[in-house]
Amino acid sequence: AAKRQGRNTWQWYRGEVRRSVSEHVLLRHDLQTALRENQFELYYQPIVDAASGQIYSVEALVRWHHPRHGLVSPGIFIPIAEKTGQIIPLGRWVLRQACQDLAVLRANDARIFPVAVNISSLQFHRDGFLTEVRQLLDDTGLPPELLELEMTESILMGGAAEAIEMIRMLRGMRIAVAIDDFGTGYSSLSYLRDLPIHKIKLDRAFIRDILTDQRNAALVQGIITMAHHMDLTVVAEGVETLEQQQDLIDRNCDLLQGFYFARPMPLEDLQALPDLLPAAPLP
Ligand code: C2E
Ligand code: MG
Ligand code: MG
Ligand code: MG
Repeated sequence: AAKRQGRNTWQWYRGEVRRSVSEHVLLRHDLQTALRENQFELYYQPIVDAASGQIYSVEALVRWHHPRHGLVSPGIFIPIAEKTGQIIPLGRWVLRQACQDLAVLRANDARIFPVAVNISSLQFHRDGFLTEVRQLLDDTGLPPELLELEMTESILMGGAAEAIEMIRMLRGMRIAVAIDDFGTGYSSLSYLRDLPIHKIKLDRAFIRDILTDQRNAALVQGIITMAHHMDLTVVAEGVETLEQQQDLIDRNCDLLQGFYFARPMPLEDLQALPDLLPAAPLP
């Protein structure tokens, strides 16, 4: 039975199960319970220096241990939580948990990396978001340099002027902001001029075909060059092979993230991870 359960779980996680409207309603209801009963966990995926493979920071990625479905992907439940507004309490939990986990890392580990947390547009534009972040840093005593926020271009939809002003304030608080899934939204490039961000994260879709598609490679090269002229750091997401790593080093990409280096993992595994990735195979 455990084996069958395991297989179903995997399928669910991979999003291979067709989801009906009623499943949505059920999940929505289950999210309520999940928030109450602490069924969430943060996994962490390293982001490494492109050339050396040295861990530079980690991204917090939420996981839901569903009592019946097993591990449910955030790709499934985050969009539901955004529709229902449940992303507000969930997002608050994620931020707080990431700060607490970072405190554990700092207590147990000589190495300290900044933690990047994904922020939904709804969460970002809600009144009191900045106050909440400030309060959290106060409560936990966390140096603001250790917290990074990842947001997609969709934050501009909720009011570009407001987004620019808020990011300016975050910058004033010494919190770094990265644009996630860069290049996949519908915003014009001109927003980059006005947004005081630190980083862009190239979406996985650009990295997948980087060795085989000339036009795609040219686009990636152009983005990296442009970003560097704007003093922005560039992260490539979804690096799965040595060849992709080498190509991105040649193109001067700063940081890399992907299964080639490490998959998202629980906090304990992160603590046991070696400095350099991918980990050398055992002799
Ligand atoms: P994202 O922020 O773009 O996160 C990167 C996603 O790419 C993660 O999926 C990660 O597991 C996956 N990934 C990393 N390297 C590779 C690779 O080499 N190959 C492939 N195929 N995939 C790779 P995950 O954890 O399933 O999260 C999906 C999305 O859910 C995230 O995309 C983010 O948009 C959202 N999300 C996750 N956690 C949170 C959260 O705490 N709050 C909010 N608002 N959104 C979250
Ligand atoms: Mg992200
Ligand atoms: Mg991303
Ligand atoms: Mg993505």
